[in-house]
Amino acid sequence: MSLSQRLATWARQKSPWVTIFNSGACNACDIEIIACLTPRFDVERFGILAKGSPRHADLLIVTGPVTRKQAPRLRRIWEQMPEPKYVIAMGACGSRGGVFQGLYHVLNSVEDVVPVDVYVAGCPPRPDEIINAVVETLRIAGEDLKHGGREWRTKKPAGPVPPTRPAPAEQKAEGGT
Ligand code: SF4
Repeated sequence: MSLSQRLATWARQKSPWVTIFNSGACNACDIEIIACLTPRFDVERFGILAKGSPRHADLLIVTGPVTRKQAPRLRRIWEQMPEPKYVIAMGACGSRGGVFQGLYHVLNSVEDVVPVDVYVAGCPPRPDEIINAVVETLRIAGEDLKHGGREWRTKKPAGPVPPTRPAPAEQKAEGGT
């Protein structure tokens, strides 16, 4: 890791910029994120800032299961983020599809599209759990800094984006015609 990358990671730990992507959530997870921004939880007091553009973000929070249509968009947003970047998969849906698991139009998890660093359990997770996930991500970023990169931990590389439609054999297995 170069000196400038080390400096950027140190600065990010002090004030991570976060962007949020709804990949097919029921919106309850998103409402909990909004609660984090309100005066009751007020994440800005910790230096956590919500950003509209992935090009300015250090951390991507993905809510919901990933629908096949959203998968290429999620990948594109992740690719637009500068390195070092981190991903939080939020809620039961982000982890394993949650209540949408097994439907023909959703993938198994966020991990199928982008590499995930931290999972947050719950349906939806509470704002304090979301804050805890951001803190955990910053701890991992600190460990990466100490190890000179993220190679010290096994992290699934981003594979090809799954197809927009399931394969015909998959559709039959799921009861399609
Ligand atoms: S985890 Fe629960 S609250 Fe969040 S998107 Fe899925 S169903 Fe909605």
